[in-house]
Amino acid sequence: MTLYISDADIELVRHSVDLLQVLQGRGVQCKSNGKYRYKACCPFHGEKTPSFMVDTAKQKFYCFGCGVGGDVFRFIEQYEGVGFLEAVADLAEENNISLEDEGFEKYVLLSLTRKARQEEESKMVFPGKGGGDGDSNLVAHEVGWPDYCVPIWDERIPSINKYAEARGFPPKLLSYLGVAGCLRGTYAGRLILPVFRDGKLVFWQARDALGRENVGKYLSPRGASSGNCVFNLERSATYDETIICEGWFSALRTGPDAVATFTCNLTETQVQLMKLAGVTRVCLCYDPDAWALKPHQLDRGFKEPPMQRALTRLVKSGFESVRVARLAGGDPDDLGGSTMREFIGDAKQVSSEIEVATLFL
Ligand SMILES: [Zn+2]
Repeated sequence: MTLYISDADIELVRHSVDLLQVLQGRGVQCKSNGKYRYKACCPFHGEKTPSFMVDTAKQKFYCFGCGVGGDVFRFIEQYEGVGFLEAVADLAEENNISLEDEGFEKYVLLSLTRKARQEEESKMVFPGKGGGDGDSNLVAHEVGWPDYCVPIWDERIPSINKYAEARGFPPKLLSYLGVAGCLRGTYAGRLILPVFRDGKLVFWQARDALGRENVGKYLSPRGASSGNCVFNLERSATYDETIICEGWFSALRTGPDAVATFTCNLTETQVQLMKLAGVTRVCLCYDPDAWALKPHQLDRGFKEPPMQRALTRLVKSGFESVRVARLAGGDPDDLGGSTMREFIGDAKQVSSEIEVATLFL
């Protein structure tokens, strides 16, 4: 999994590879079509007459049939279905270019030293939708991203800023949590939401902030699984009870004691991570639809509603206390901080598998 490649290394790879060779190496039959120009049948859409054009002087390609175009990295992203950094890493490996791999660590270290100076900002107020609820202070993460990921109040990404503000999250607070906006590559137009363990970045998801169709809502680094990490775990573990939500924004909205497991399919690894972090009391607050069976989950071989499965797993794991809140009227992000606190207040204690089962009869 590639988390970071310096700009210098990206340029090194770009100038070391030849687009035409890369295309031919992947079986794209390119025929000469003038000086520095080639044409081929497009590898991205079925066609018999070539409309895929290659300019070797500019090192760019463009298909007049389906509109796909860009540089060599863009080609690999599309062709292999990988993210920008993976595309760079793949090409580097193919061409025996070694990338400086301490780069990302360096960024994290640098930003940790910066943290001391930002003590003031750690007193920022947690936002709540619809009028100032959810008022806990956050002791936030601070992390550095590659330089094309920028703090989300950066004026170069007004659309992402707008997205955050429309949802009631001041961009400055999100940035302080380590959330960044991305300016280019596959992740452009996305909010990058980080997960930390022992102060290190272990996972992130990039959420589309532009409401685009035909792009995935979330992108993650290839080879990394969200089932192996829990968002906001280290901070939440310092509270009496950890609130388990599905999504990032639900957790952020609920408060600093809330974690996110990314989906309602709570994994054994996530349970063990919570125990290792010292969590002893939990309250499950998955979205209302987690109580019902969903066809896609049946397809994956689940016999019971995801909520039942998650609760059973928690009860079996020997937490001191397991509670469950039955949300209605939306997910925590829709409900807002103070309504969530009411649901959490009314949450039901469950202590055995039998009790769990009766909730689903
Ligand atoms: Zn095409």
